[in-house]
Parts: sequence; structure tokens; C-alpha cells
Amino acid sequence: MSGIQDKVIAITGASSGIGEAAALLLAGRGAKVVLGARRLERLGPVVERITQAGGEALSARTDVRRREDVAGLVHLACERFGRLDVLINNAGSLATSPLDDLRVDDWEELVDTNIKGVLYGIAAALPVFRQQGFGHFINTASTSAHRIVPGQAVYAGTKFAVRAISEGLRQEAGPRLRVTVISPGMTRTNFLEHVKNPELRARFEEVRDKLAISPDAIARAMAYAIEQPADVDVGEVIVRPTAQD
Ligand code: NDP
Repeated sequence: MSGIQDKVIAITGASSGIGEAAALLLAGRGAKVVLGARRLERLGPVVERITQAGGEALSARTDVRRREDVAGLVHLACERFGRLDVLINNAGSLATSPLDDLRVDDWEELVDTNIKGVLYGIAAALPVFRQQGFGHFINTASTSAHRIVPGQAVYAGTKFAVRAISEGLRQEAGPRLRVTVISPGMTRTNFLEHVKNPELRARFEEVRDKLAISPDAIARAMAYAIEQPADVDVGEVIVRPTAQD
């Protein structure tokens, strides 16, 4: 099946920002979306907007740090729609800080959410994709997976890991499964809420206000990868503001 119409697409981190934009865009183009995040009070209105517009959406409380939650999200998609075409491992923590701050709890959250969360997504969907004989992983990395700047060592480390795991997955996946990495640059979302270091936050705020792009731009890149024919695997798309360094 090519295109987006009728595809069953599960998205983690769909309660705000890029994940929410992807849910709205893909559902608007006829996909059946299954949305996960921790904040049900944010997921509910997303589902409502989609269903009111005539689309199909379900949601489940999903903390990607919990393997059983991610398995449950994939299971929900298969149970309700009979298959899973695409899993978008998008949930991410942006709790970035200079190493000297020793925010070790945040380092753990970054590793647990950004690396282990993606691995749990792979563990949940890979057997389903193998059994179906088709499937598509889309993993959200970052331009920080290409270029490290001060204050982002741990965050960048997790996003380098997402790219490495995705490439390994692609090599092992064989000819019938697709793997795409989407690497956004500075995007206008709530991500600054995670940044606790005041200087770093001020620096990001300045850059964000100057040049951040809409989360829709990232969602469109995801849609581009999904709508290709089954024999076309879009490996990685970097989508950054034109004015970003
Ligand atoms: P937001 O803060 O707007 O969204 C983050 C999403 O991730 C929310 O839906 C949040 O949901 C979810 N999330 C966080 N932790 C967990 C968890 N443990 N379990 C489940 N869901 C979780 O930020 P963005 O939209 O910007 O971030 C989305 C992705 O894009 C992330 O992977 C991020 O690293 C990446 N990215 C963003 C960039 C930017 O400039 N904004 C640049 C490069 C990459 P909830 O809190 O409800 O669980």
C-alpha cells in the first residue's frame, strides 16, 4: 500500500509540538492515527479535532520509558485496525543542560526517553512488521545528531544514538521494512519548557524567536516519507530553518 490514505499510524509524543502536528496532518490525509503520550488532557483535544473533522483517531496514555506502555500502544493499533503500517517514534525529552550543572536525573531522563523509548518502540513493532511482511519506522532525531553545540552533550548523544540505531535497524530490516530518520532543526514547540539552565534557555529563546520553523514543516517531511511507494525508503530528512547555522 502506498500513499497515506487508510494507513494505520501510531505516533508517540503526540500531545504537543511535532507529534501533534504529524497527527493532525496525517489524519487529515486519511490515515488512522493511534496517539500516545503521558498527558491525556492534551491528547484528548487532538483526538477530538481529528474526529470532528471526519478522521479516525484513538489515544492511549503512553510513557515511552515503560516498555509495556509502548507495547500497549502498538497492540491497540493492531487490535482496533487490524494492522500497523507506520510507527513514529517521536516522543522526546529536551531536558538539555551543560555538563557542569550535573543534572544527572535529566541525563537519565534523556537516555530513558530518547534512546530506550525508541528501542521499546522497535521491540513492540518489529515482530508485528515481520509478521505482516511490511512496516515503516520513523524515528525523530535532530540536527543535534549531526552537530554538537555546548550545553547539548547528553541530548546530542541520545540523538546520535537514534541515528545509529535507525541505521542498524535499516540494515537488518531486510527488503520489506522501511526506516526513516527525521532530523528537525529549531522548531517552534514547547521544548524550551524542558530547559532549566537559565543562560542556555535565554540563548535558545533568542534563536527560537529569530528563526524557528513551524512543526508542520517537520510533519510534512514525515508525510513525504510515508507516501512514497513501498519500494522507496526515505533514509533521512534534515529539516531546519533556512537561517539556522
Ligand atoms: P514538545 O515538548 O512539544 O513535545 C514532546 C512530546 O514528547 C510531547 O508530546 C510529550 O508528551 C512527549 N514525551 C516526552 N516524554 C515522554 C515520555 N516519557 N513518554 C511519552 N511521551 C513523552 O517538543 P517537540 O515537539 O519539539 O519534540 C518532539 C521531538 O522532536 C523530540 O524527539 C525532540 O527531541 C525532537 N526535536 C525537536 C526540535 C525542536 O526544535 N523543537 C529539534 C530537534 C528535534 P507528554 O509530556 O504528554 O508525555
